[in-house]
Amino acid sequence: QYILGIETSCDETAAAIVKNGKEILSNIVASQIESHKRFGGVVPEIASRHHVEQITLVIEEALEQAEVKFSDLTGIAVTSGPGLVGALLIGVETAKTLAFAHSLPLIPVHHIAGHIYANRLVSEMEFPLIALVVSGGHTELIYMKEHGHFQVIGETRDDAAGEAYDKVARLLDLPYPGGPHIDRLAKEGRATIDFPRAWLEEGSFDFSFSGLKSAVINMLHNANQRGEQLKAEDVAASFQESVTEVLVKKTMIAAKKYEAKQILLAGGVAANRGLRERLSEAVQSVGHLQLVIPPFHLCTDNAAMIAAAGTVFFEKGIRADLSLNANPGLSLSRFSIE
Ligand code: ATP
Ligand code: MG
Ligand code: FE
Repeated sequence: QYILGIETSCDETAAAIVKNGKEILSNIVASQIESHKRFGGVVPEIASRHHVEQITLVIEEALEQAEVKFSDLTGIAVTSGPGLVGALLIGVETAKTLAFAHSLPLIPVHHIAGHIYANRLVSEMEFPLIALVVSGGHTELIYMKEHGHFQVIGETRDDAAGEAYDKVARLLDLPYPGGPHIDRLAKEGRATIDFPRAWLEEGSFDFSFSGLKSAVINMLHNANQRGEQLKAEDVAASFQESVTEVLVKKTMIAAKKYEAKQILLAGGVAANRGLRERLSEAVQSVGHLQLVIPPFHLCTDNAAMIAAAGTVFFEKGIRADLSLNANPGLSLSRFSIE
């Protein structure tokens, strides 16, 4: 089985070939970060234009590197949502055109299902499992009882984890995207500031990061007024400590409650070294529990993860026809099988 994956939901134009749902033959990512940097965030109009320019080249390169021709393909998997509508459309229309031209099955993939399935490129999944999704737009705890099944048991009520990282990074005058910069600074600093932890109601698996963000703003503002200079390293370390403590604790409680065999880490913030370390420590203290974390390049947006998820949905008989449309608000529960 050779699945071509296509991903254009945000600011990376990506195509990949994955064999049998697990083996990456090629994984091409054209990042637009340099174009969006000076605006401090992704500009949708610019993103769409870049996707149009890059998509054909990226797909050709993915096929070439994998030494696979269209006639070898089993199907084409494409991110149909959620994301920026104009960005998603480029991938969806390209996939539809190629599927029609080469008479190939078309498989729609939810972007977050893709992030989760990046883990299958590392290790076989064992159910039931809990996935912690931490990305630029999502912070969710997901229970999976089998392949293709997703139950959102907790989600953020305000900012996503990655969004919080990027906003705090901005306050510290760090370049966009700020997550990796905070990660780097946090390594050099000490968590000396006691920022709040949003545990929310007893038993809730939801998250909230806006209070933490406000606390950082106030802390910096007050220090400024007093003419003090806070060490950015310490602010970063303290912020990271607050975020990871809540993420790790809630994930561990969920794993216990749902009798999970595995915890999967997914999304761009899964690249965070502090989070990876803290979660590894917590999982090590529980005997039967296994932790899977994708390598850095599979945590952020890529198309190998879309092909990996697409393979599973293909096997479950999921197909789209040429009426497939980009759905910027596609929900994971709706996308879930049963
Ligand atoms: P979504 O997947 O929710 O649609 P997205 O695709 O924009 O959003 P990803 O590409 O999955 O998000 O992740 C990007 C986010 O990950 C950014 O907010 C970035 O700052 C953050 N990030 C990347 N590396 C790190 C890191 N080492 N530490 C913390 N955050 C990081
Ligand atoms: Mg991105
Ligand atoms: Fe993403």
